[in-house]
Amino acid sequence: MSVSRLRTLLTALVVHPAFILALLLVFAVAASSMSGGTLQILTFLLINILLAQSMNLLTGIAGQISLGHAGFFGMGAYASALLMKQAGLPFLAAVPLAALVAALTGFLLSYPAGRLREFYLAMMTLAFGLIFREVAREWNDVTGGAMGLSGVPSTTLRTLTVLGLKLDAVGYFRVVLAATAATMWLIHNFIQSRYGRAFYAIHASELAAGSLGIPRAGTKRLAYTISGALAGLAGAFYAHLVGYLGPDSFDLPRSIEVLVTTVVGGLGSMAGQILSATLFTFLPEKLQVFAQYQFIVYGVILAFSLTVLPRGIAGLAFDPPRFIKPRALRRAGTEQTAAITPADISGADAGLEVDAVTLRFGGLVAVNRVSARLHPGRITALIGPNGSGKSTLINVISGIYTPTEGSVRFFGRDITGMEDHRIAELGLVRTFQDPRLVPSFTVRENLLLGAHCRLAQSGVAAALNLPSAIAEEAARLRQVNAVIALAGIADVADRTMESLPYGYRRLVEVGRALLANPKAVLLDEPAAGLSESEIGPLARMIRGMKQAGLMVLLIEHHMDFVADLVDDVVVLDGGEVIYRGDVAGMRGDPRVIASYLGTSEDDDA
Ligand code: ADP
Ligand code: MG
Repeated sequence: MSVSRLRTLLTALVVHPAFILALLLVFAVAASSMSGGTLQILTFLLINILLAQSMNLLTGIAGQISLGHAGFFGMGAYASALLMKQAGLPFLAAVPLAALVAALTGFLLSYPAGRLREFYLAMMTLAFGLIFREVAREWNDVTGGAMGLSGVPSTTLRTLTVLGLKLDAVGYFRVVLAATAATMWLIHNFIQSRYGRAFYAIHASELAAGSLGIPRAGTKRLAYTISGALAGLAGAFYAHLVGYLGPDSFDLPRSIEVLVTTVVGGLGSMAGQILSATLFTFLPEKLQVFAQYQFIVYGVILAFSLTVLPRGIAGLAFDPPRFIKPRALRRAGTEQTAAITPADISGADAGLEVDAVTLRFGGLVAVNRVSARLHPGRITALIGPNGSGKSTLINVISGIYTPTEGSVRFFGRDITGMEDHRIAELGLVRTFQDPRLVPSFTVRENLLLGAHCRLAQSGVAAALNLPSAIAEEAARLRQVNAVIALAGIADVADRTMESLPYGYRRLVEVGRALLANPKAVLLDEPAAGLSESEIGPLARMIRGMKQAGLMVLLIEHHMDFVADLVDDVVVLDGGEVIYRGDVAGMRGDPRVIASYLGTSEDDDA
């Protein structure tokens, strides 16, 4: 048996409900014959698994690095400890409330952090972690300061009761085991929904995500909130395991340990996190002799992992995670609905109106008083030499840039300067000159991502795998099947984007726009780099859009392709409109010949 086949089998096994239930049962039963020490470290392992999943969701899936995760962990720990010890709340209320406190912390942190990226984000989260530690160390009245908080109701002190029953180490292990398993199930379902796909889309390209109707700020806020809740839950379980909280437990090394665990486990993989958390829970025990070298060992493991195992342990053991619910996939099967939903173009102002739009980049006028109109059921070509402002005009219409002057109206509504994701939601979608797909997603996942703003399921419905959520995704997967057939890419539907030649990216990006059920589609050089055999399916998709009553704006250099397809032409030169009319008229227009056709018809860079 080949290694990759073995990986696939292992991947199927670890998500199999029977396997998971059996494993849980074995541990739950065996717990009663384990020593106190073993139970303690196994409970600690569960806490580390939760913490790793928290980091995995934020960093691995949503791509937001965190160097202050111990802060969320500590927030949950202190909150639950104080709620039980000082406020006298029962365990079953204190723990969820503590998770809520940490979730709120994540929510608030997302406001400053959500604006930052990479280095600055790392520094911001680092600052959060440091501030938390300082507060924990100095706020004597509440946290016990450097002395720590002792006497927290816990199994170690034999002071923990739940529903009136004293909880010993065995009982506590079982409670945490059940809670961890249930939480993992919820996150797994959540990741395989529109939410997980949106997290990953933000990770891959914020620009592309916005163009698909995915709000950047809101999506990051959700990622921080859920990640905070998970770390807080882990912290609460920790508090009632050990009974004593000292500020050092929530210091920078703890944050780094979580990050290292997650990276070594394999960013994005839930199963990888379990393996990695296991490694890093038991390793310190074995390293007792080298206690002072612990972080050197971690560093070496991290460096090794990053250079030799880019996908972490998960890359060795499992197939990459997928972002579609298997049940929805099975439900959709090979059925197809219409690939292109006819646009609702009723109303007197149906259309897209660009009115005297100007955009300056410093001294450069990239677009100069450009006016244009798109009509339902008509294809308009936007042509002109390189640098004439075509892409910039699409960027203005789709909300990436706010014009210096002028306005854009869509179905009579002023959308000038509106956020890109809101414009996409209105049914105005675009593709990019250099295709922006999620490289590690399959063709099918990328297409389904395009339906983001047409899926209405709540996060709760997605996490609980409610029938309504499954049915909704299955319905869109039938449309995905139809788009796959229309684009002629059935043979690669379940291959990842990064494993496919360039031409597929163009076809998939145009196909993805169809999943948004748009009223207008702006295509930035969709035929560039396509082979003869790929041009056919592209033309088929564009004709289909016209037949369904969509407005199409097509930037294109191949004159034959344009002539066959389009109804209207707008020619730009130096940011200004130099021609407006039909193709035949354009071919004879002296200004167009002088600036474009005469010199660069074949120069389609
Ligand atoms: P086209 O798509 O027609 O080839 P573009 O719209 O990409 O042309 O560019 C029009 C002009 O605006 C070019 O001179 C280009 O260098 C400039 N430009 C485009 N984007 C930016 C930007 N973000 N900052 C500064 N200048 C830009
Ligand atoms: Mg361009």
